[in-house]
Amino acid sequence: MGIIVQKFGGTSVADPQKIHNVANAVIREKENGNDVIVVVSAMGHTTDYLIKLAKDVTLTPDSREMDMLLSTGEQVSIALLAMAIQSHGYKAISMNGQQVGIITENIHSKARIVDIKTDKLQKHLKEGNIIVVAGFQGVTTDGEITTLGRGGSDTSAVAIAAAMKADRCDIYTDVEGVYATDPRIVPNVQRAEVISYEEMLELARVGANVLHPRSVETAKQFNVPLRVRSSFKLDNMGTLIIGVEKMEIYKPVAGVAADSSQVRILLSNLPDIPGTAAKLFGALAKNNISVDMIIQSLASNGTNSIAFTVDAEDLDAALKTLNDEKSSVRAAEILIDKDIAKVSIVGAGMVDRPGIAADMFRALAEKNINIKMISTSEIKISCLVDKNNANEAIKALCKEFGLESTEIAEVKGDLPNV
Ligand code: ASP
Ligand code: MG
Repeated sequence: MGIIVQKFGGTSVADPQKIHNVANAVIREKENGNDVIVVVSAMGHTTDYLIKLAKDVTLTPDSREMDMLLSTGEQVSIALLAMAIQSHGYKAISMNGQQVGIITENIHSKARIVDIKTDKLQKHLKEGNIIVVAGFQGVTTDGEITTLGRGGSDTSAVAIAAAMKADRCDIYTDVEGVYATDPRIVPNVQRAEVISYEEMLELARVGANVLHPRSVETAKQFNVPLRVRSSFKLDNMGTLIIGVEKMEIYKPVAGVAADSSQVRILLSNLPDIPGTAAKLFGALAKNNISVDMIIQSLASNGTNSIAFTVDAEDLDAALKTLNDEKSSVRAAEILIDKDIAKVSIVGAGMVDRPGIAADMFRALAEKNINIKMISTSEIKISCLVDKNNANEAIKALCKEFGLESTEIAEVKGDLPNV
């Protein structure tokens, strides 16, 4: 007999009928002979509603009071789920973050978990209870209520699984697992049976919206096997996420994703002398602006161009910084390109396989898609393309790297695809 942690998101507990369905899934795991701890989010769009309510009261709500408000959403769903489980004849107890002892940093609205007390959880399990824990919330050592950031219930579940040395953490969602890309773009995309934490983290960084990234980091740190699985098809085991060292890798590419949240900035006619890049990027860093892709190229007249990408929301700040620096680095021109998308392929299997980059470039060339910038890391290759080529690029790359299947992915409600 082991411990299984299950997590159900807001859409899975959106109404009383759905709460009973979740109760059945929980009881099923208990009947398999496991101790069960279940973590839930707030019902449906409760958190959005509460945020709107606060904004209707004041445009600048205090962050401590925001946490006080938002943490109530999960408190409703844990009580209702515990009641539903009890109504099926099983022992259940709900606990909020404070009652469990989910200790976080003293930061409101995006606190990190620093410790989870296990004594009460152990005691309730020993007494035969199914424990229903409020996701997304914790408490500081001073007793202040905190929240972990939007989507944080995934992280609550994984952290509890790590603290309790659970056998597995199952994240139940609306789809049957992790797809190699967004099924709205490639309907016959493959579902991964196994994917590594490393691939999952890279995919999250390039725009995939599967799990709260911190939940994957925590799972990796404590080696918690994670499963993303469907709350509608309980027999389907979904996608297992484990360490790359435990995987047999057959494919070079596990997933394809596009990120359209960046803009490209081009500085032309810079003098080709030491210190120019240091000055520019030093000034951006000082203003807290993260830069992603960078290309420097030498023109025949002895000047350089430097192109780089930043988050669209940092564009104004970046332009201000660059205009302040413009004369000191003697840049001639600053050009901006907003209609871009970064399309990336990710796969632990590309590490010792040469030619994957060339295959990617050829697949894009065959569709006449121009590559504006390229960057690579150990398990990722990204190409910057025109935004209106992004979907076609994704389709071409899924085909190129064998990520299509014969079945059409079923998509309901929210979409935790890559
Ligand atoms: N209820 C919170 C949110 O909507 C946390 C979660 O769902 O994971 O972001
Ligand atoms: Mg979520």
